[in-house]
Amino acid sequence: MTTAPLLVSACLMGQAVRYDGGAKTFLNNHLSRWQAAGRLLPLCPELAGGLPVPRNPAEIAPGHDGADVVAARARIVDLQGQDVTAPFVLGARQVLAQALRAGCRHALLTEASPSCGSSVLYSGHHDGTTRAGFGVLTALLRQEGIAVYAPDQIDELAMDFDAADHEVTQRFK
Ligand code: SF4
Repeated sequence: MTTAPLLVSACLMGQAVRYDGGAKTFLNNHLSRWQAAGRLLPLCPELAGGLPVPRNPAEIAPGHDGADVVAARARIVDLQGQDVTAPFVLGARQVLAQALRAGCRHALLTEASPSCGSSVLYSGHHDGTTRAGFGVLTALLRQEGIAVYAPDQIDELAMDFDAADHEVTQRFK
C-alpha cells in the first residue's frame, strides 16, 4: 500500500528559495509528523521554472489571478518591469506534473505568492498592498482537483489529509 504525499511549498520547509534568498519556515506538529513519516513532497515552482535565488519580487497584473496567467490573459511582472510570466508558468506546470505523478491530492502552499498564494495576492502595483486572489500553481492544482491549503488552514488540512490516508488504509486491509 502506498499513500499519496502532501505537496508543500519548499520555503515552508525551511529551504532558502524565496525571492529575497530566505525561507518561510513553518513550524507545526502536523508538518513534523508528516515529514518524519516521509509524507512530504517539497517543491518550489519558481526554481523549477529556472528563476534564480535571489530574484526580483514579481506580482500578477492588477485585477488578475493565476488562472488568468495560465489562460494568457495576464502577465507577471517583476519590480524592474521585466515580464517573467514564462518561467512562472513553466515552473508551475513542472510542479503540477510531479505532483500528479506522485498521486498528490492535497497541497500546503505559502500564502500571497504569485505562484503559491491561495486566497491573497499582492496588488500588482508593487506597492505592498494585498487583495484577494490566487497564484499560478494554485490555479493549475485546482484545475486537477488537488485541494490547496494555506498555513493558517493546517488543522483543516490535517483532518482531510489524515482522513484520505485512513480511507486508503481501510481499502487495503
Ligand atoms: Fe516558496 Fe512558492 Fe515562492 Fe517558491 S514559489 S519561494 S515555494 S512561495
